[in-house]
Amino acid sequence: MRIVNADLHCHSIVSDGTLTPEALAARAHGNGVELWSLTDHDEVGGQHRAAAAAQALGLPYLCGVEISVTFAGMTVHIVGLGIDPDDAQLVAGLAHTRGGRERRAREMAEQLAAVGIRGAYDGALKYVGNPELISRTHFARYLVETGVCHDTHEVFRRFLTEGKPGYVEHRWATLGDAVRWITDAGGVAVIAHPARYAWANATQEYALFAEFKAHGGRAVEVVTGSHSSAEIVRYADMAREFDLAASRGSDFHSPDESHTDLGALPYLDGRLTPVWELLAHRVLH
Ligand code: AMP
Ligand code: MN
Ligand code: MN
Ligand code: MN
Repeated sequence: MRIVNADLHCHSIVSDGTLTPEALAARAHGNGVELWSLTDHDEVGGQHRAAAAAQALGLPYLCGVEISVTFAGMTVHIVGLGIDPDDAQLVAGLAHTRGGRERRAREMAEQLAAVGIRGAYDGALKYVGNPELISRTHFARYLVETGVCHDTHEVFRRFLTEGKPGYVEHRWATLGDAVRWITDAGGVAVIAHPARYAWANATQEYALFAEFKAHGGRAVEVVTGSHSSAEIVRYADMAREFDLAASRGSDFHSPDESHTDLGALPYLDGRLTPVWELLAHRVLH
């Protein structure tokens, strides 16, 4: 099997990235990416732009999305690859999932004000490209801009996460709905960055994988920008154990914030089934 520099996870200004879909396509192409997907949070508004930009560069493209899910009281992300971005059920489901972000953001700002950080709602809004998608990342940029924190990683250590000021619990989509929206839109559902979830015990993680499979999920991110080499090995094992295909994606958000650039990732272990083998018929050329 040929080794492919696929990058199937990143974000644009349509969610919480800082680059346009066109700039991301050019950057991916320039970095040697051979198969690309833009996977904005809960939003497919950038898909036609990304696909057109990729096509103009001769860069094979899969339409994508990253859906926020609440599972066992935790937020889990499910990537959808090869979706039809115009699928009515998917578009409606994502709109519903985005709803409530603005109210959540106002509560986040109130909590921050209570610890002396003023103006966070308007401050975060300056970084928002899509008014329906105000996210914690936008607040993080404001906290860096105002010197409260040195970088966004410090922000998520001190604020905006469970138990810290600025964290507001939110109910996202269900696992079953997210997998169904993706699958019915012609795509493959992928568990995103599995090492990033702070499970209370291993049973919860097994439950996620088992229920994901039962709903029709077919892949897991093994290689991502936030996985260590040990985590890559661990989730390669999980992919085999659960008979899931494997995905690879940087989760690139911004040249200033992301450690892993587009395409700059270890290759998938050749013994795994790459997710793009399931999606050859969905690739746009
Ligand atoms: P939201 O969807 O509003 O909850 O925001 C989630 C986004 O915040 C993620 O997609 C990341 O971009 C960012 N984020 C969350 N936790 C962290 C973290 N520990 N370090 C860096 N970025 C984070
Ligand atoms: Mn993000
Ligand atoms: Mn994610
Ligand atoms: Mn992401």
